[in-house]
Amino acid sequence: MSQSQNPYRGRLAPSPTGLLHVGHARTFWIAAQRVIDHQGALILRNEDLDPQRSRPEFVSAMIEDLRWLGIGWSEGPDCGGPHGPYLQSERRSSYLDAWGRLRDGGFIYPCTCSRKDLAQAASAPNDNDNEGEDEPIYPGRCRGRTDGPQFAEPAGVNWRFRVPDGEEIGFVDLNLGPQRYVAGRDFGDFLVWRRDDVPAYQLAVVADDAAMRISEVVRGADLLKSTARQLLLIRALKYSTPVYFHCELVRDQSGARLAKRHDALSIRHLRESGLSAEQVLNMVRAA
Ligand SMILES: [Zn+2]
Repeated sequence: MSQSQNPYRGRLAPSPTGLLHVGHARTFWIAAQRVIDHQGALILRNEDLDPQRSRPEFVSAMIEDLRWLGIGWSEGPDCGGPHGPYLQSERRSSYLDAWGRLRDGGFIYPCTCSRKDLAQAASAPNDNDNEGEDEPIYPGRCRGRTDGPQFAEPAGVNWRFRVPDGEEIGFVDLNLGPQRYVAGRDFGDFLVWRRDDVPAYQLAVVADDAAMRISEVVRGADLLKSTARQLLLIRALKYSTPVYFHCELVRDQSGARLAKRHDALSIRHLRESGLSAEQVLNMVRAA
């Protein structure tokens, strides 16, 4: 399963939807340290697929703040590299290729449920702390559809991955130990392509990690369940499987997760208030 014989390649994969804050910086700092420990390469990938939420000014701010903290990478949108482009918004052909293979293999189906259909069936996830960018379990109305191959392109309907109900998806996280999720119980048929013609997070990440030869994925523990979904996509697409290192989420004094809206804890704000990079890094390490 692992690629231990291959060179270590890690990645930072921020979304440019706000200023980098201490919580994100901690995950990125850990990712950078693991690359140094393994004498590997670090790749910066800008996850700017969501046209409503991504802003170019946050991309430059993020790159500047990471560099200011002393986190360096050798491939990325600002410096290029052999596996680019390093912006998801420029990688559509790669995602379309993956979509076509999933469609041809019968792994995905078109879903025409309305938001209302889904809202009626879904019970909202109650443990928000662990859900991250999670989606409610799909009730399955369209999962029997077999007309996928008739679609020449994905736009216009939602595309869902048909999960193997009851199958246990397990992996050993290098930081948090053994993890297991049951398909159909812990998560349902998840989106791989949105009807507004934007590839879904799960598909884009898996296609990019494969294309960029990522050997270890370091990210926040809010994405643990997404890893189970992504392992199913990796299997369907016959990609090689990276190893995973999920970082504990950073919480504030009240126990709430640090979010981007905590502007006071953005690296930019701390820097402008006169702290040195070393002082901010100490905060990041202690977070
Ligand atoms: Zn449907």
